[in-house]
Amino acid sequence: MPNFARHFSWIFTAFALLLPRPAQAQSKPAADLIITNAKIWTVDPSQPQAQAVAVLQDRIVAVGSNSAVDAWRGPNTKVIDAGGKLLLPGFNDAHVHFVSGGEQLDNVQLKDVTNPEEFARRIGERAKITPKGEWVLGGNWDETKWTPDHIPTKEMIDALTPDTPVFVSRYDGHMGLANSLALRLAGITAQTPDPPGGTIVRDAQGNPTGALKDAATDYIDKVVPPLSHERRVKVVQRALAYAASVGVTSVQHMVASYDDIAVYSELLDRGELTTRIYAAPLITHVEDQAKLGIGHAFGGPYLRIGALKAFADGSLGSGTAYFYEPFLNQGTNRGLLSDEMHPISLMRDRYMKADAAGLQICTHAIGDEGISTILDLYADVIKAHGEADRRFRIEHAQHMAAKDFERFAQLHVIASVQPYHAIDDGRFAEGHIGHDRSSRTYAFRTFLDHGVRLAFGTDWEVAPLDPVLGLYAAVTRATLDNKNPNGWFPEQKLTVAEAVEAYTMGSAYAEFQEKEKGSITPGKLADMVLLSDDIFTIAPAKIRDTKVLKTIVGGKLVWDAAAPAQAGSTK
Ligand SMILES: [Zn+2]
Repeated sequence: MPNFARHFSWIFTAFALLLPRPAQAQSKPAADLIITNAKIWTVDPSQPQAQAVAVLQDRIVAVGSNSAVDAWRGPNTKVIDAGGKLLLPGFNDAHVHFVSGGEQLDNVQLKDVTNPEEFARRIGERAKITPKGEWVLGGNWDETKWTPDHIPTKEMIDALTPDTPVFVSRYDGHMGLANSLALRLAGITAQTPDPPGGTIVRDAQGNPTGALKDAATDYIDKVVPPLSHERRVKVVQRALAYAASVGVTSVQHMVASYDDIAVYSELLDRGELTTRIYAAPLITHVEDQAKLGIGHAFGGPYLRIGALKAFADGSLGSGTAYFYEPFLNQGTNRGLLSDEMHPISLMRDRYMKADAAGLQICTHAIGDEGISTILDLYADVIKAHGEADRRFRIEHAQHMAAKDFERFAQLHVIASVQPYHAIDDGRFAEGHIGHDRSSRTYAFRTFLDHGVRLAFGTDWEVAPLDPVLGLYAAVTRATLDNKNPNGWFPEQKLTVAEAVEAYTMGSAYAEFQEKEKGSITPGKLADMVLLSDDIFTIAPAKIRDTKVLKTIVGGKLVWDAAAPAQAGSTK
């Protein structure tokens, strides 16, 4: 010690008393919430399993054994005894249509209809109770469940719906059926040409049958009255409550409208946003977000923007996914590029603009040539602007060309996939595209083997929002028709741990939020879900029967199966 210091050491001591005390000497704040006696699968490789977790405000502060976490208990700590049940990070659905999903909860239900008579009856019943001026919409019919299956026609429903416009959608969202009144309101006649990227289905005389494919549905969309603000608020509230009840704590809303975002913002202000939302409007409006200068994932923990949704092609079921080779059962048809891809250079321009603005690009691509074309465009952007952490996404990435798995990895493209589609499409895919192409369909294992990041989602309202169905689908690949109990292309099955990771960390990474959520780790947002069964140990076939007991978002209980009415607000 220098001489002067020895002399004046008392001064240093006095100063030391005035300085803030070191952290270990402070009394630790008590946790607001402790979940104890749980079987925790953290999705954090540094501590994969634990018994208890402590939450302070909206963050996780401790994860470990019951006794270690108990040190965080104070007089006002709320304690949940998990009774040995499985606790996971909250599910993050990387691809939803949240408002359509909420609307669907309210619409006519046609998905489980197995014959044309019941199809017509339900639409007729709905028309009777529909107020004048409103439409019968939604439905999600699936004609492949009918014997014999055939695309429905307006004649099936016209007599039951003389004064109510009807436009009911096929479950994949790429086709719909209009009644005669709806066609009249939309001005669709035998003389109306097919728009680019769409088809007006016609009878032998050239008259519209009522069925409209892809861009042809725009004719109808133009005349359907938009949701009022009040209705949109109600629809979102329904979607939020439903998401909480199935353990979905974050969603990535593809094709969000600005009206949707306004409703989210309003509900956020009111403390009613119980699901975290990343909203991706259509890329055709790229200028709007680009001129704000915000970049990807801009916002706060409950609401972010800065992503854009693009479309490369259509769907497998509607025969509009864009393939190198024709469908096996549709003559020379090999699908369609979407109307926003005409010409492709226009899409490249939008990508360049989006990327220059730091916005994230999520592109729907299903057919092998559709996917390949988008990878080409992504490569063009990287070449033009240089390497960066962009997290380009391909939504669905459904039917891969063998050559493209490697490219997917090299370009660091995220495969944002929906496992439920695999057990649904698996019923008919081989009939459409044959065995070889089907072997690279929903090829989750091959993606992982190539080092491609997976993000799981549902495409709700196209498929059910319930995550346990997606986990079940990824782990079993057992098609919905029960024809593949050991799995359709079983070599592509995932383990439960891989499927859970894709549905939590994978989706968090896909929205640039892997440091904030996706695992049960100290410092992260306290989004967790308690399940009725241990999906790691039960028979895989039983995973789909698992129920959500509690859903916690930001440390708040937003769903409690034991007292469903009491959970809700985040304030
Ligand atoms: Zn979608």
